[in-house]
Amino acid sequence: MTATLFNQSYRPLPTQGRDPSSAPPVVRRIVIVGGGSAGWMTALIFARSLLPKGVEITVVESPTVGIIGVGEGSTPWLRGFFDSLGIEEAEWMPACNATYKCGITFDGWSTKPGFKSYFHPFASMLDNLTMTQFVHNADARVNGAQLHAHPNRFFIAARLAAGRLAPKAAEHFPFDIWHGYHFDAALLGQFLQRKAVERGVRYLVRHVTQATLDASGAIESVSTEEGDQLGADLFIDCTGFAGLLIDKALGTPFVSFANNLFNDAAVAIPSPIESAIPSETVSTALKHGWAWRIPLTNRFGNGYVYSTQFCSAEEAEKELRGRLGLLESDAPVRHLKMKIGRVTKHWNKNCLAVGLSQGFIEPLEATALLFIQQTAATFVEVLEEGDLGEEAHERYNRRVNEHFEGTRDYIVTHFKTNTRTDTEYWRANAANLNLSDPLKQLFNLWMSGKSIAPAVRKQALGKGYPLFSWYSIMAGMGIFPDPQDLRAPSPQEARYNMQEIDDLLDRSVANYRDHGETLMNIPPRRNGESLQVYFW
Ligand SMILES: Cc1cc2nc3c(=O)[nH]c(=O)nc-3n(C[C@H](O)[C@H](O)[C@H](O)COP(=O)(O)OP(=O)(O)OC[C@H]3O[C@@H](n4cnc5c(N)ncnc54)[C@H](O)[C@@H]3O)c2cc1C
Repeated sequence: MTATLFNQSYRPLPTQGRDPSSAPPVVRRIVIVGGGSAGWMTALIFARSLLPKGVEITVVESPTVGIIGVGEGSTPWLRGFFDSLGIEEAEWMPACNATYKCGITFDGWSTKPGFKSYFHPFASMLDNLTMTQFVHNADARVNGAQLHAHPNRFFIAARLAAGRLAPKAAEHFPFDIWHGYHFDAALLGQFLQRKAVERGVRYLVRHVTQATLDASGAIESVSTEEGDQLGADLFIDCTGFAGLLIDKALGTPFVSFANNLFNDAAVAIPSPIESAIPSETVSTALKHGWAWRIPLTNRFGNGYVYSTQFCSAEEAEKELRGRLGLLESDAPVRHLKMKIGRVTKHWNKNCLAVGLSQGFIEPLEATALLFIQQTAATFVEVLEEGDLGEEAHERYNRRVNEHFEGTRDYIVTHFKTNTRTDTEYWRANAANLNLSDPLKQLFNLWMSGKSIAPAVRKQALGKGYPLFSWYSIMAGMGIFPDPQDLRAPSPQEARYNMQEIDDLLDRSVANYRDHGETLMNIPPRRNGESLQVYFW
């Protein structure tokens, strides 16, 4: 009963243990244009490493252009972000009305009996005890054996979410759960801004109107409506979908993902929350897209992500309101457009694009803040290495692009594997043949009954997502032979006892605490606790 477990600690941001007196050779002044989550997260990540070296970091934010103000769910990597900055949950979570997230329930994406809902968990050390069984049963069921292979029975996070429990165990129970968060996007922005300014980042409220390029085509300065001209060695474009520097000033080509991912708009409406606060995001398939339901301590954030090819903004709002019982409500409604894809060069000349300016894959798996974190943190490594030449540009851009493509493929899988036939939207998604070669190979392996585990473990296929995620989605959507075609399993196939798995998880769950109670009394971290990342 062993699974290969690569249990990695979150890599701290660079500079730890390095000589703070040696500033990077060329970059001494950095101007970040934009003060949304991307601007302030980048400022904090840079500040930690570069302020001690005397680098000046300025965030410039328009007084008239607001932040996007949605984006209220995270991956577990956000925990690594706060850990690396030395900011405790006890400080930031109450300030942002934040809750814990054990994973995401997908409702109504599949019509297959027994698979109409499934949970994509964040993994934990405990899942090491049941992951082998899950992979074994799923592989056997693809080959026709009548075995239980729904992911929810195998993961502790699914049990915690079902019981509205927090991924926080009692002191005596030493098993760490990899968890994410939900938070109020506006409050998170304000919190990060306060922290960055406290740590020495300059903040200017100015509306940038123009960028001046030098003879090499790099950005020399940006001008503001208020009359400033701000020069820097490095400019960070955090202006959101506007892409003021990376797109408007430098004309960096954009690769659209519209052929792979159809959704290009969203409508968001808050609603009251009940007293027992959930510890999961719920993503429900609707007529022309899907709806998120994100619990905060004071409200639900709800939104409908849809495709304007198939549905108007009015229809989407009506469908969402109807679903929430808010048809007559005057709750604030926001309509948003989404540009889906990525720039070809996230780092172009002396400009780095971070956040929505660099690209966006729709929010189904809440990965955008992770992109921000990784784009900024890996760029600090580049600065520390001090090589800003062409090859370094290429290496860096390749790495970020691979991350985008891998994540896109996982998101595409949700849509491609749907079995709904009720609307043209779902039929078009199921019929979509615009799949990357690695994704086609992964599907081919699964459909031909060969295990995807070796290729995904090596990250030869399914890049960017771990094994438990790939098995959760394929098994969770019920990509198996039809029930009438299943046969009795051989003794070798039926080697795992589901009752034992249930008992093990039941005993484990008993050690976890009520989500609401934990939120009222967020415990400080145990000494030395830091993010553990589990990949199988
Ligand atoms: C519908 C939807 C749902 C989402 N859900 C999630 C989720 O669950 N999880 C997740 O991780 N992400 C999610 N995202 C993405 C997430 O919201 C963004 O990645 C994140 O908020 C970062 O945005 P940003 O800072 O890049 O841009 P913005 O928030 O748009 O900030 C842009 C900044 O640029 C400034 N600016 C613009 N023009 C100028 C100018 N001329 N001069 C000076 N400043 C200027 C603005 O003032 C603002 O401060 C979602 C996005 C959408 C659209």
